[in-house]
Amino acid sequence: MKQIFFIIMAVFSLFGWHSAARAASIQKVAPTFWWTGMKNPELQILLYGEGIASSEVTLSSPDVVLKDVVKQANPNYLLLYVDLSEATPQTFNIILKKGKKTTTVPYELKQRTRKGEDIQGFTAEDVLYLIMPDRFANGDPSNDIVKGMAEDKVDRTEQYARHGGDLKGIEDHLDYIADLGVTAIWLNPTQENDMPEGSYHGYAITDYYQIDRRFGSNDEFKQLVDQAHAKGLKVVMDMIFNHCGSENYLFKDRPSDDWFNFKSNYVQTSFKTASVQDIHASDYERKIATDGWFTQAMPDLNQRNRHVARYLIQSSIWWIEFAGINGIRQDTHPYADFDFMSQWCKEVLTEYPHFNIVGETWLNSNVLVSFWQKDSKLAAPRNSNLPTVMDFPLQGLMNRAFDEETSDWGGGLYNLYDYNTQDLVYANPMNLLIFLDNHDTSRFCVKEEQAKNLTRYKQAMLYLLTTRGIPQIYYGTEILMTGDKGNGDGTLRKDFPGGWSGDKTDCFSQAGRNEWQNEAFDYTRKLLKWRKGNDAIGKGSMKHFSIAYGTYVYERKYGNQSVVVIMNGTDKAQELDLTPYKEILPKAQATDVLSGRTIQLSGKLSLGQRESLLLCF
Ligand code: CA
Repeated sequence: MKQIFFIIMAVFSLFGWHSAARAASIQKVAPTFWWTGMKNPELQILLYGEGIASSEVTLSSPDVVLKDVVKQANPNYLLLYVDLSEATPQTFNIILKKGKKTTTVPYELKQRTRKGEDIQGFTAEDVLYLIMPDRFANGDPSNDIVKGMAEDKVDRTEQYARHGGDLKGIEDHLDYIADLGVTAIWLNPTQENDMPEGSYHGYAITDYYQIDRRFGSNDEFKQLVDQAHAKGLKVVMDMIFNHCGSENYLFKDRPSDDWFNFKSNYVQTSFKTASVQDIHASDYERKIATDGWFTQAMPDLNQRNRHVARYLIQSSIWWIEFAGINGIRQDTHPYADFDFMSQWCKEVLTEYPHFNIVGETWLNSNVLVSFWQKDSKLAAPRNSNLPTVMDFPLQGLMNRAFDEETSDWGGGLYNLYDYNTQDLVYANPMNLLIFLDNHDTSRFCVKEEQAKNLTRYKQAMLYLLTTRGIPQIYYGTEILMTGDKGNGDGTLRKDFPGGWSGDKTDCFSQAGRNEWQNEAFDYTRKLLKWRKGNDAIGKGSMKHFSIAYGTYVYERKYGNQSVVVIMNGTDKAQELDLTPYKEILPKAQATDVLSGRTIQLSGKLSLGQRESLLLCF
């Protein structure tokens, strides 16, 4: 044993001498650069390089103040905290001195080219189009396989393999997206996922400051945002603060064990995040839900560590400032530390007051979801500062409402009415992200039979695009793509037909879509174009009536502009007595936007089975 010990010591001292004798090599600098003139003048600069912790640190700048140099348990890290209050745009040197050797790290402070106030977030006036970049279109086959990256194959027949989609593919189809009539795109994560498997979905980040090279470069990401803006489309970036990928250098060679929960040991989360706000929850239940890891390959970041918190907050501000994105969708929001997430939202919205953030709040009731929204009375005196939450309960209801028969006391549209009667629980019902499906759920058309039921599709799309909230459409829903979660998550994320050269069908073009797809596409497009700039929908109040004759009637109103939706939720024709609706029917007749017909609004209204009317006043 003793002998082995001496051999190890000898190796270590040799190693130590060797690294002291040469200049330190810096492998990572985060953020890669920064700006002057930000509202928060403090900046954390993380330096990663072998044995750098024993270096003496000085800065060459006359106006950048080095406030603090923090060492971690791991000697390969240094965290510099600098004050930029007086800093001018410049490139200064971070000088690391170790014995006689000096390492110089140039660090750039750019001039800001935008004002925080100029960044416009997404609102209920927008409709988001959700895209999984690996599965939408392959605009650049040359980046499908990047040498040196852990997952180095493409296989379009395998649901969990990479398929080759990229930013160029999205850029090539911005005209299609803009023509559809949506006003924003939300991209599933685009940051580097250099993981050995399952890297296509992007939720295991290995470098927070780098776009995955199989999608493109950082500059190409910025270019995509600029191109989208030029076509009137906002861009929402997906971010993940709860966890990262296990191949992230911050985990593999972690600064200290308290950068990750459970002292960097894998403990599985229960996924039962209702415990966060459950007044009866045990401490054990809460801890396992929020500090447990999403999977073993996704270590759970400890945001209560102030260095981790600063690192994550800065990474989000960096992307907003660098690329000019309009919003962030935060993954697994309730799994992270409440107070940290609250602080993050506050800091982002201080820097960019018109920005918007939507948290993934996958909880099964409006009470639980509402807790996470900014100014929730249920969370008081705490405040999440999160402007937008996801209406998962409504998603569940919408996936049944248009199949079931509606009665005055239950089923079908009754459940939508009943749910909307409870909106008082939300601090801001207009800031709810509403959706029929997304990358984690079965598609709205689970099976092919449903894809051929266009009445179901049309009623659902009409409700989605006219009720309160910010609608989100998942790519491919407009062409009736199907997907059943029971067959694996990869099957919910099929390639958009026509996105790859050689595809047999091209659903980006009318000629490539079949009859049903064109009917769904045209209907959706017509509604989206009509919705754009319609203040009654984008800004207006909502008034609705309890179900009568199996029919749901509601009004959206802004100023003297109003819209009334009348939807028959039964498979029978109905004779609707219009007497109760006088207060929302200011005229004796109105035009139905959907059919172009003039509808008489006195006495009784005849509705065909499952017929819907969209009336404008
Ligand atoms: Ca590609």
